Amino acid sequence: MNVARISIVGGGIGGLSAALALQHFGFRVSVFEQARELREVGAGVTITPNAMHALHFLGVGARVAKEAGPTEAYLIRHYQTGDVIKVRANGTDYVQRFGAEYHQVHRSDIHTALAEAVLRNDPDCIFLGHRFEALTQDSECVVATFANGKTFTSDVLIGCDGGASKVRASVFGDVVVNYTGQVAFRALMPMASIPDGIAKMPFAMFVGLRRLVLHYPLRHRTIMNVIGVAREPRWQEEGWTIPAAVEEFADLYGDFHPDALGLIRAIPPGALFKWGLRDREPLQQYTKGRVTTLGDAAHPMSPFLGQGACIAIEDAMVLARAFAAARDFAEAFGIYEATRKQRANGVQLASRQQADENQGVTPRGANPGANADDRGLYLYNPVTVPLAAAAS
Ligand SMILES: Cc1cc2nc3c(=O)[nH]c(=O)nc-3n(C[C@H](O)[C@H](O)[C@H](O)COP(=O)(O)OP(=O)(O)OC[C@H]3O[C@@H](n4cnc5c(N)ncnc54)[C@H](O)[C@@H]3O)c2cc1C
Repeated sequence: MNVARISIVGGGIGGLSAALALQHFGFRVSVFEQARELREVGAGVTITPNAMHALHFLGVGARVAKEAGPTEAYLIRHYQTGDVIKVRANGTDYVQRFGAEYHQVHRSDIHTALAEAVLRNDPDCIFLGHRFEALTQDSECVVATFANGKTFTSDVLIGCDGGASKVRASVFGDVVVNYTGQVAFRALMPMASIPDGIAKMPFAMFVGLRRLVLHYPLRHRTIMNVIGVAREPRWQEEGWTIPAAVEEFADLYGDFHPDALGLIRAIPPGALFKWGLRDREPLQQYTKGRVTTLGDAAHPMSPFLGQGACIAIEDAMVLARAFAAARDFAEAFGIYEATRKQRANGVQLASRQQADENQGVTPRGANPGANADDRGLYLYNPVTVPLAAAAS
């Protein structure tokens, strides 16, 4: 393989998974992250069996599982009556069905597990304070330029810089971005602040017309993760760290069951954030020359199937296997794209559709609480899925 050095732009869950998977197969990577310190936002993320296969293969699955604690059954509840509409399997059932677990994880726990594993392999491979700005490529190499004035030359570059990817824009131009008309809220709450009706609950999602709110415990039930997504026609900013007022959240959910509303009202001051969800079309091509894209940079995912991070981990595993199997980088990128595009773009589009089903506005009628399991998504194993031949 004619690849001595691989640049990865973005040190989120996708970028670090790609780094670890490529290192596993003996490749040398350099990760460039815009943030000055390695950290994730305070929020939960569900890591489902399809992604756990890769995390176990890469040696970080057991740690992620240990920090998360056991996964109980999860409930879909009617937004007004509070009645349980569906009960979903617990973590043990998933192991029996798919050979790997389903975990609710603090984002920083999975991020730290990945970062530490990457740095154990190569203590000098992560460059913080490097905001990617532009690139040039030719038949020899790709040169990335960063906002701090530095440049870096490598054989190939992988854009893992999220939904608003600058790498994607550099090689494919700007894509159309629409505000979805959905605003998301997130909060992490200490378990001691959770009202009694909710405190002992497993994962539960209240589904109502045009709105949903869900909560699940993290870190052995010491923290509660709360997420709400509501239709809100007024334009909202993108980003994970915009502070929000509890009254704004509560006002949108005024007709919800007292358990749901009580939970929202109990969010401590300063703990609530909001952002407007953006919609971008899937890329029809992930790769151009020496540059490819991965995770949200390739297929920006809405949260309604809880799969964006999992699909980024799948991408990373398959990309690294493609590099291990190919004769040169062009073949590796071809295998990666041919193996991944239908799967990842399909999940992106399914996630968009799931918003309408959870919020009862689909013409097909509500299918509240349908999830990635109903769509057969957990059957995919990125460690063993056959690699497709690169398109000629
Ligand atoms: C409310 C909500 C809930 C979700 N829940 C789940 C869930 O339960 N399960 C799940 O699997 N997914 C979930 N997701 C989706 C998931 O969070 C994303 O799909 C996932 O984080 C994508 O990973 P990524 O590494 O591709 O991008 P990101 O996580 O966005 O990481 C991108 C990284 O690149 C860096 N970066 C950006 N620009 C630059 C630049 N110019 N130069 C250098 N670095 C840069 C960023 O700082 C960041 O570190 C959820 C999303 C939302 C919004």
